[in-house]
Amino acid sequence: MLYERDNIHRLTPYTPGEQPQRADVVKLNTNENPYPPPAAVLEAIRDVSADQLRRYPPPRAQQFRETAARLHGLSPEQVIATNGGDELLRMAVTVFCEPGGRGIGETYPTYSLYDVLAEIHGTTITQVPLAEDWSVPEDFAQRLNEQGCRLALLVNPHAPSGRQEPLDKLERVARAFRGVLLIDEAYVDFAEFDATPLLDPARGLDNVLLLRTLSKGYSLAGLRFGYGLGHPRLIETLDKARDSYNTDILSQAAATAALSARDDARKSWEKVIAERARLTGALRQKGFTVAPSQSNFVLAAPPAGGLSAQAMYRALYDRAIFVRYWDAPRIQDKLRITVGTPEQSDALLGAIDELSRAAGTAGAS
Ligand SMILES: *Cc1c(COP(=O)(O)O)cnc(C)c1O
Repeated sequence: MLYERDNIHRLTPYTPGEQPQRADVVKLNTNENPYPPPAAVLEAIRDVSADQLRRYPPPRAQQFRETAARLHGLSPEQVIATNGGDELLRMAVTVFCEPGGRGIGETYPTYSLYDVLAEIHGTTITQVPLAEDWSVPEDFAQRLNEQGCRLALLVNPHAPSGRQEPLDKLERVARAFRGVLLIDEAYVDFAEFDATPLLDPARGLDNVLLLRTLSKGYSLAGLRFGYGLGHPRLIETLDKARDSYNTDILSQAAATAALSARDDARKSWEKVIAERARLTGALRQKGFTVAPSQSNFVLAAPPAGGLSAQAMYRALYDRAIFVRYWDAPRIQDKLRITVGTPEQSDALLGAIDELSRAAGTAGAS
């Protein structure tokens, strides 16, 4: 007997990057920050009392909202706290998209969770291919309007390419699109600018929602905390569909401490940005084609004539160096490599040298 809805029966679930139990893996596959979270985060978790655990948490994470609002120059009514950025995506799909139609619009390629969430909700998916340089086509909003999309999902900086679209482009999309534009800024801490200026009431945009997460910039992927920023009416609407206590007291305390210690976190962003430049240069020197990245990963195509991306992925894996590979159009000749510490890059670069020497020898014999 099948008890589930047809779309759940047909669903291919989201495949997360592998989380090995072994500690000796050079783990460059899931875009985690290689540096520890600010010390204040662990202190805040330790300071949570038995009495706080006994009681239900503040349902809207009010203290966190106030801290995030101050940080971004917004009001608390423009902030919603969520159980990871992924929960905000799920809420947005359920709140703005119609089951059976009028669904999401996205680029191809993009974060693969978007499709999974749309399929769970049973709403439609409209894909617009990115240009050769990974830029969003100028008619993106128009094509979504033609399909009746209610929610546009743009990851910026883009995953998996690392390209960041400028504010004026985002603003044009927001003005032209007849639904809600969710700009997924999961990686924005590693970029030079963010899209918060679009939330300035003076711009008169009521359909822009920004996604933020503490998973990448704040080294807290294990915590499961993210948030949305947007027009007060959008936030209030999302809030109606929130689980009653969607974030717990430990994560609220930790997330509030993390944002308050942003200057500590920023030191890790600066190290990652510097290492991104070095890794990009070193890979290009080895003949890789590497897209310029504003993120904490790079998308790199190995040189033609050597190992394919897939073969290199497997060979690195066998050497306990994990990167990400997708057998999908436009990216099956590339590896997505998280920017780690300089030591992790060196391990990767050394292994790539060894592999190309071995391939060269095999070819000659
Ligand atoms: C990591 C990520 C998120 C959010 O992740 P959470 O860990 O759920 O906060 C959202 N979008 C993209 C593109 C991401 O890479």
